[in-house]
Amino acid sequence: MPHRVSESDAARIGAFRPASGMETPRFSGLPSFMRLPVRDPGAAAGVEIGLVGIPFDGATTNRPGARLGPRFVREASTGTRMVNHASGIAPYALAACADLGDVPVNPVEAAETCRRIEAFFAGLRGAGIVPLAVGGDHLVTYPVLRALGAGRPLGLVHIDAHSDTDDAQYGGTRLTHGTPFRRAVEDGVLDPRRCVQIGIRGSMDAADERDWACAQGIRVITMEEAVARGLPEIVAEARTVVGAGPTYLSFDIDALDPAYAPGTGTPEIGGLTSREALYLVRALRGLDLVGADLVEVAPPLDPSGLTALAGGQIAFEILCLLADAVATRRAAAQASPQA
Ligand code: MN
Ligand code: MN
Repeated sequence: MPHRVSESDAARIGAFRPASGMETPRFSGLPSFMRLPVRDPGAAAGVEIGLVGIPFDGATTNRPGARLGPRFVREASTGTRMVNHASGIAPYALAACADLGDVPVNPVEAAETCRRIEAFFAGLRGAGIVPLAVGGDHLVTYPVLRALGAGRPLGLVHIDAHSDTDDAQYGGTRLTHGTPFRRAVEDGVLDPRRCVQIGIRGSMDAADERDWACAQGIRVITMEEAVARGLPEIVAEARTVVGAGPTYLSFDIDALDPAYAPGTGTPEIGGLTSREALYLVRALRGLDLVGADLVEVAPPLDPSGLTALAGGQIAFEILCLLADAVATRRAAAQASPQA
């Protein structure tokens, strides 16, 4: 269903259109996310969706490199254009989008970096900006969820090869890229009964990771179950699990098979094709998304650039969902201003 955007909103949104490839070639200029205008997060009046890099991989437990994800995904994303050919969504006509730069991480201090990420995203929430974060390893999702879910536990669609619900690792360390969703549930910023994980596979350090998630009520859909039942049925169930409430989407690039995304810290064979990933993301249209991320792109592990390409194009698909959600909420607020 097409959105109606008022004339005054359209004028405001139009000021944030990406640089047109018709006017300046896509290979030219400084590579912001999707060639969007760059704004300081403290001077982002009018912005509705903020793309943010989180260049931190200090919580990676095996092969590092995701700290370079934002830089390479920015470059790869400059090839994405204005209109989603499958859904028809034209995100830059629906919502004012900008690249808000990178969170000022500390590359050798995970806890300190989490505090900085949480403060950054709490600022965005206070300004009414819906974030699309690009990691970084998957720990970065935890402080983002603490900021966005404080006082209103969120639903979650989590697409990943891994449940990331481990407890302590490596002699008791509680903050790794294998623990973010356990920490978020413990902190009450996720509602586990409105959480669904899709694509889970591969070996585990211990069965506790899966058992704990299931015991909390998280719906864990393994890759094997997704193959057996088919993606349309899986997505329909996922939509039922998260329901109509505010929901976060977290996409770990290792959900893709290493054939499509080899540049990631913890690859697992038997994953999604990139075509299946596009299907899954597009099928989530209409959820009340309040934020999203794309994590674990590790460019040094993939000199071909294929992984960053997948990341940049999946980020565009996610951005289309967010723009659709923002336009839907704006229209609802304008229809009933007291709500
Ligand atoms: Mn993950
Ligand atoms: Mn993973």
